[in-house]
Amino acid sequence: MSPLYYSFNQFLKEKFGERVQKVPLDAGFTCPNRDGTKGRGGCIYCNAYGSGTGAARKGLSVREQMLRGMEHMARRYGARKFLAYFQAFSNTYAPPETLRARYEEALVDERVVGLCVGTRPDCVDEAVADVLSEFRDRGLMVWVELGLQSVHNETLARINRGHTFEDFLTALEILKARGLLVCVHIIFGLPGEGPLEMLETVRTLARLPIDGIKFHELYVVRGSGMEKLYLEGRYRPLTQGEYADLTAEAIAHLPKRVVVQRLTGDPRPGELVAPDWARDKTGTRRLIEETMLNRGHYQGKYLE
Ligand code: SF4
Repeated sequence: MSPLYYSFNQFLKEKFGERVQKVPLDAGFTCPNRDGTKGRGGCIYCNAYGSGTGAARKGLSVREQMLRGMEHMARRYGARKFLAYFQAFSNTYAPPETLRARYEEALVDERVVGLCVGTRPDCVDEAVADVLSEFRDRGLMVWVELGLQSVHNETLARINRGHTFEDFLTALEILKARGLLVCVHIIFGLPGEGPLEMLETVRTLARLPIDGIKFHELYVVRGSGMEKLYLEGRYRPLTQGEYADLTAEAIAHLPKRVVVQRLTGDPRPGELVAPDWARDKTGTRRLIEETMLNRGHYQGKYLE
């Protein structure tokens, strides 16, 4: 285990004995917070790409995206094993037979060793969990990535998430009852939140049976509700130093078994409005690690 935190690379090496790369996919799903079921505008920080690559709109099938992604990552990293990462929009928001077919399409050959499925807590029910369990029962690693962002319902309402913390707890219970792996996405720097609220989110999650976490800074993208707030001077993004401080503290609150899958966000080229430092993923990661080292922090420190 890394002395600072339990990284996803480390976790995958332990499970598969070698490097495993995630291939991001856009399978053409939508989102109940955009299609009118829960809302139309989407979350305040989301734009029409829904955190995806836009590949589905360009007409690329899941199979093609998977094959291209594998080829690229084999060349770049020498990877021989891959996880299919259903990233864009809400990837459990369809009838079970559609979900089954899309997930199956990503399993292009035996080099694909698992699925990572990003979704919203209110798009998880027993039928969805049953489909995901079928793939796990075939020997694939199956992660469900639940967007939560904050445990505070006032914040979730403010950012127009369209679900509550209680919806998240229900989804977590359904998924863990089947032994599926759950990774939670959270965001630091949401409007109306200070360090107390942000760290309370992490301390609350630390007490729950989650398996992984992804940290993101709130960055402002073109076409999002946040862009308007920012341009009107009603929102100030975190500085890189503030974000590194918060993330270093947060990791010290996490149990050692929780896999830290991500330390920063990853804006698409051309979509970022602010802050500029959101482009500097390597620098942010380094700053978090330096902050941890300077403070003598490591994952689980506050739980000892
Ligand atoms: S749930 Fe995801 S895809 Fe849907 S509006 Fe929010 S950020 Fe966008």
